[in-house]
Amino acid sequence: MPELPEVRSVARFLNKKVAGVSILKAECFFEKMIWRNSVQDFLNKVSNQKIISVSNYGKYLMFELSEQIIISHLRMEGKWSISKKEIDIYNKSHLRLQFELSNGEFLKYYDSRKFGTIEIWNKNEYLDKSGMDKLGPEPLNNEPPLKYLKDKAIKSNSVIKAFILDQSVLCGIGNIYANEILFAAGIHPERITKSLSDKELNNIIICSNKILEKAIALKGTSIHSYKSGDGETGQFQHELKVHLRKDEECYKCGSKVVKKQVAGRGTYFCLVCQQ
Ligand SMILES: [Zn+2]
Repeated sequence: MPELPEVRSVARFLNKKVAGVSILKAECFFEKMIWRNSVQDFLNKVSNQKIISVSNYGKYLMFELSEQIIISHLRMEGKWSISKKEIDIYNKSHLRLQFELSNGEFLKYYDSRKFGTIEIWNKNEYLDKSGMDKLGPEPLNNEPPLKYLKDKAIKSNSVIKAFILDQSVLCGIGNIYANEILFAAGIHPERITKSLSDKELNNIIICSNKILEKAIALKGTSIHSYKSGDGETGQFQHELKVHLRKDEECYKCGSKVVKKQVAGRGTYFCLVCQQ
């Protein structure tokens, strides 16, 4: 599933291509993906609107239009691309939505597993109506402050792996980066959150910033089927220190990396380096 760095890469790619361009016509080929609006209402609302910008918050991709905001959640396999009408960068049978643009190109959404969702809201109401106001801060630009994470940690009874995956605590971290952050911070994924010291919580903030910023610079991690908007692959998979390295030697101490289900997710860690 694309996490913050992958969605940021898609947003930057799309923004370069479609900011300032208008949507002439929209077509939807899989009605269930449109949430909270009828498909016809959605298609009517987006037609003849200008795309002002494309950005993301955590895993949510947002198209700011003249009057509304489209929120796209890619879930497992959702992918956006820009091409001429007759060209498909991804498998044509997975095309679910397309916008004909005023520059002659087509903005297309593909989703092989059909888990992705699209919503449209008025700008002044999208935050609370979409539930995005419940999301925590993105761990970037030295955010969040230690006090914020400490307050949340004290109230939590969960293990640290589940805690940093909780989007209402930190927004944008999924399984891959959670594994990498806890390895870099030297913290066992099953530690109870409220047992963590200030120093350990601060280390999580520093490591999450560092890892996400590097992953953004490398346009994300290309494992499974993720590709950035132009069909290219991100390069952070070459930087992974623990994720998918079961039974391989830990880069820090040489013992074997273990894999265990923690918080329902495949968790890779080093029993020696992560205490
Ligand atoms: Zn180790």
